[in-house]
Amino acid sequence: MATQPSPSPCSTSSCAVPCPLSRADAAALVEAARVLDAAGFMPQKSGNLSLRDGDGFLITPSGLPYAAMTADDLVRCGRDGAVRGSGRPSSEWRLHAAIYRARPDAMAVVHTHSPMATALSCARHPIPPIHYMVTLAGESGRRGIPCAAHATFGTEALAQSAVVALGAGLRATLLANHGVVALGATLAGAVALVREVENLAAQYLALRAARIDPVLLSEAELAEAAAMLGDYGRPV
Ligand SMILES: [Zn+2]
Repeated sequence: MATQPSPSPCSTSSCAVPCPLSRADAAALVEAARVLDAAGFMPQKSGNLSLRDGDGFLITPSGLPYAAMTADDLVRCGRDGAVRGSGRPSSEWRLHAAIYRARPDAMAVVHTHSPMATALSCARHPIPPIHYMVTLAGESGRRGIPCAAHATFGTEALAQSAVVALGAGLRATLLANHGVVALGATLAGAVALVREVENLAAQYLALRAARIDPVLLSEAELAEAAAMLGDYGRPV
């Protein structure tokens, strides 16, 4: 009987723990990091991306320029962040670990310092439901994109602050005086969401700069938009 070829194991740090992710998954994570970096979302080597990896996760390393990164540089971590194999994970590994523990629907986590969303986070200001695309973040857009309470970068306090802001149903939040974090059922979904949060932040800041008050969408209008978006309204 013919057997299905098993996916190539990812080429990251050699260790004895079986890795459910494929080489293609690891390559896609590096490529997504490079694309976001080229788009200006990761200034000064900031930001980090990860994929759920069995009971742990695969994450971008600490302090390496994205342009020079390869799949071999990715770091495998267990559920609580313990490194499996070798390498030094991003300093925000606690943020990723906490989201994977709290949200079974999270298969990918993307954290960026994209300029407009980060500017708004510095005012500790949420993005209200000014445009129907806010529904991409979940909960039919009712909460807009919130801003998590401030905590120092790299700490468990920041991780817990993000988890509280995301709750059970949101897929993106600003991090006060810091940036953005988004989760997705796929890496592409999480990347698309951080891009949309940046769009929304730019639109909201443009209104504020022009001293024009936006008219916020009502819950009924948001619910209708979420229904119309169909697949887009589902977890990405
Ligand atoms: Zn950061």
